[in-house]
Amino acid sequence: MKFRFLGTGTSVGVPQIGCTCRVCTSADPRDRRRRCGAYVTSAGGPSFLVDTPPEMRLACIEYGISKVDAVVLTHAHMDHIAGFDDVRRFNTINGTRVPCKPGDPLYRGLPYRIVGKPMTCYAMERTVEQMHTIFPYISAKGGENGLFRPMIEFSSADAFSIGSVSVERLKVEHSFPCCGYVFREEGKAKREEGVASIAYISDCHEIPDETIEKMLGVDVMVLNCLRERPHPTHLSLENALAYIARIAPKKAYLVHMCHDLTHEEWLARLAGTNVEPAYDGLELKG
Ligand SMILES: [Zn+2]
Ligand SMILES: [Zn+2]
Ligand SMILES: [Zn+2]
Repeated sequence: MKFRFLGTGTSVGVPQIGCTCRVCTSADPRDRRRRCGAYVTSAGGPSFLVDTPPEMRLACIEYGISKVDAVVLTHAHMDHIAGFDDVRRFNTINGTRVPCKPGDPLYRGLPYRIVGKPMTCYAMERTVEQMHTIFPYISAKGGENGLFRPMIEFSSADAFSIGSVSVERLKVEHSFPCCGYVFREEGKAKREEGVASIAYISDCHEIPDETIEKMLGVDVMVLNCLRERPHPTHLSLENALAYIARIAPKKAYLVHMCHDLTHEEWLARLAGTNVEPAYDGLELKG
């Protein structure tokens, strides 16, 4: 399983608009944090996006991502879904070429038309409802197949597989019942090295005990950590480290960071631990 961080920043991104602090003006590329999202590729082929943040399109172009077979959403906060419309491009890439001639409803002056194929988008029921409210044109009731609206089939399944990756939803609190996911590459769960299991929680301030049990000993834990100071809906450094100690992953990466600390300063804070700040573009391979 390969896992690429498409973004690692908090909801306003880093640099923040109009901020001249040392982090927002840093020359270190690791201090430029897009809004959080990820791209997962299984060894067998299918690939999927975790969230569709506002800079998803730019990240896909930068990292040469042209294949997406499904989308997995954590929640409908705008920093995680504002790029959803760009799923249209993957509908087209995954689409079929339909011959058509003058008079056909699909005819637009060419002897063929690319018709998008629906993509499955996995999300909590509440998130699905919010997606229809925020993006009413994705409803099956309107629009034109795959050309100016994302063609999506929503699923609220708690556990599912995308190719050889099994996915389980994790309940967390983010001032409301929210979710993360654990991704496990089937057939590789017992492997000593490499990334066979990844838990991903980008937004929470509390993790229930039963969710911690589901993540115990994962290869990689990706966990939100906004900053050192406490915050009502996100984890602080102290809280994140306490959860990571209980979960005991082989390695942990922090995401959803604000502009309080540079990447180097995060590394210094985390020296001597198995935890590192993630950065945009970082790829984990296994
Ligand atoms: Zn967020
Ligand atoms: Zn700043
Ligand atoms: Zn959020």
